[in-house]
Amino acid sequence: MRALEEKILKDGRVSGNDILKVDNFLNHQLDIAFLNEIGKEFKERFKDKKIDKILTIEASGIAIASIASQHFGSVPVVFAKKVESKNLDKDVYETKVYSFTKGKEYSVKVSKKYLNKDENILVIDDFLANGRAAIGLKDLVDQSEANLVGIGIVIEKGFQEGRELLETRGVRLESLAILDSIENGKINFRQL
Ligand code: 5GP
Repeated sequence: MRALEEKILKDGRVSGNDILKVDNFLNHQLDIAFLNEIGKEFKERFKDKKIDKILTIEASGIAIASIASQHFGSVPVVFAKKVESKNLDKDVYETKVYSFTKGKEYSVKVSKKYLNKDENILVIDDFLANGRAAIGLKDLVDQSEANLVGIGIVIEKGFQEGRELLETRGVRLESLAILDSIENGKINFRQL
């Protein structure tokens, strides 16, 4: 998505050779008009599929998925919880996700009420790096016996192993921008 690549070049900040910070439109401040364009593009990529629900993970996925939902007929958005909460149902699907950015494993949960057998689920998230968050979300969908239609990612870091891990599991992956490398502060996009 050309507009996204331009936005990353204009507003993104690089940290070392592997982290891209997009706090001013995606991860902290939210550019709603731009997120709407992202939502439209996800719809275009998955227009051949019936989607009953969108699944994402807190926190950054929530805004992206919510705005995208409006382009899929305002289907419900469910977000997997990372933060321990007393209010969460006891009856949950649960999986473990290792975060390379935080250097620790955490538990991710969704109430069994909100993922149901045979529903068609689209997973949406902000970044794909080593694929652990995406595989965790796939695991939650598999536990519920719903169908994982595909995974939509805003920014994929193509130099990490996420895509390979998902494709070997037969997952359809659509990333709106793919970074091939970050070298000395310069971002190189994959030519599609
Ligand atoms: P994965 O599980 O694919 O290794 O990492 C995915 C998660 O890590 C994303 O949801 C995002 O929160 C975080 N992440 C990984 N790499 C980056 C990065 O370069 N920039 C930002 N902003 N987040 C990242």
